Amino acid sequence: MRFSALKVLKEGLTGNKGWQPHWRNPEPKAEYDAVIIGGGGHGLSTAYYLAKEHGLSNIAVLEKGYLGGGNVGRNTTIVRANYYLPGNSEFYSHSLKLWEGLEQDLNYNVMHSQRGIINLFHSDGQRDAAVRRGNAMINQGDDAHLLSREEVRAKLPYLDFDNARFPIYGGLYHPRGGTARHDAVAWGYARGADQRGVDLIQNCEVTGIDVENGKVVGVQTTRGPIRAKKVGMVTAGRSSQVAQMAGMRLPIESHILQAYVTEGLKPVIDHVVTFGMSHFYISQSDKGGLVFGGDLDFYASYAARGNLPGKEQVMEAAMALMPMIGKARVLRSWGGIMDMSPDGSPIIDKTHIDGLFLNTGWCYGGFKAVPGSGFAMAHLMATGRPHASGEKLRLDRFETGRGLMDEEGTGAQHNLH
Ligand SMILES: Cc1cc2nc3c(=O)[nH]c(=O)nc-3n(C[C@H](O)[C@H](O)[C@H](O)COP(=O)(O)OP(=O)(O)OC[C@H]3O[C@@H](n4cnc5c(N)ncnc54)[C@H](O)[C@@H]3O)c2cc1C
Repeated sequence: MRFSALKVLKEGLTGNKGWQPHWRNPEPKAEYDAVIIGGGGHGLSTAYYLAKEHGLSNIAVLEKGYLGGGNVGRNTTIVRANYYLPGNSEFYSHSLKLWEGLEQDLNYNVMHSQRGIINLFHSDGQRDAAVRRGNAMINQGDDAHLLSREEVRAKLPYLDFDNARFPIYGGLYHPRGGTARHDAVAWGYARGADQRGVDLIQNCEVTGIDVENGKVVGVQTTRGPIRAKKVGMVTAGRSSQVAQMAGMRLPIESHILQAYVTEGLKPVIDHVVTFGMSHFYISQSDKGGLVFGGDLDFYASYAARGNLPGKEQVMEAAMALMPMIGKARVLRSWGGIMDMSPDGSPIIDKTHIDGLFLNTGWCYGGFKAVPGSGFAMAHLMATGRPHASGEKLRLDRFETGRGLMDEEGTGAQHNLH
């Protein structure tokens, strides 16, 4: 089934009876060429690109819950390519290019909106850092503009420019950055993978990884054993637990990140705005809710919900930046489990076990990586070689210390990235 304006019109006029389920609900087969553990954004995009770019169709995605129930459906939907360090720069730049053709590629409306991101700065030192970052973005072929305080005021008149502690000095503007509808991204990739023959198996938790003579041969699941020539571990916040099934101890800590949405309001925030001093970011959804978030809850946990001190810190930051938000009522909040790496950058790599691959370390920035990550992971799994965009995302950098990508310069402390 393809979507088109004509189809929407026809269904609208005939009672919407012709739509079909987006994907099948198959029983797991005894054996696959490749199995992806985790039906989040990265697992689904890996399966999609394995089928589309490499012609593999005997693939299964095994998801312990329902597709898109993890972080891919819990994030604040920000999509950007404004990284500073080699490794991250080229990877996220490639991912943004994939985003720009994604709706046509998937024939699915993921509501990708390049409304622009403005990172505010509040001191001369921060301005210098913003200039350096902007130059790195331009060198990578992406877009960046330095905005003066008055240029920021013209775009974001509702901010408090003269807050005594955090006066606004200006902003780094990334026009191609923006947002996308997170569930639709999961659904679009799921539908695209299913159409290419991939089995998407929900309510199927992987409980063990079978290895024989140093080679992966399959997985144990709550729906029985499944043999596989290749296995990709793509489980974000649960990466350490899954890798442990293969005897691996990952350099990953799992931490909670919360987000919030207000009641629907008339259009007020046109861009994505970030307030680095307090790790606060906000945009407005198409339904009108102000969607915002802040920093981690600062303790390791597998609970997909947060605590009150985290909420208080985010609300304080919101009030410092835009006092008008105090009039809006918060509708709901939620949390997700972040796979925090020691340098804040991701890992897409082979493991010491033949045929077993790892995709993790997305911290709180993995939504924008969904297309690029799946593309690079699929390339690695299909060819055995890293894709050019992801060749620096190696696991052994934490063993050797070479090639670390500490974007924020906070050192090897997971919860500071
Ligand atoms: C509040 C919040 C805000 C965020 N904001 C942004 C943002 O604005 N921009 C951005 O780029 N990123 C953001 N992120 C980060 C981003 O959402 C994640 O980095 C990304 O979604 C992680 O990859 P994923 O989609 O594959 O993860 P998930 O969707 O979590 O997928 C992993 C899947 O693995 C499954 N799984 C785990 N263990 C097993 C098992 N044993 N067997 C089978 N399946 C298993 C899980 O059920 C889950 O569905 C945010 C995250 C949160 C929580």
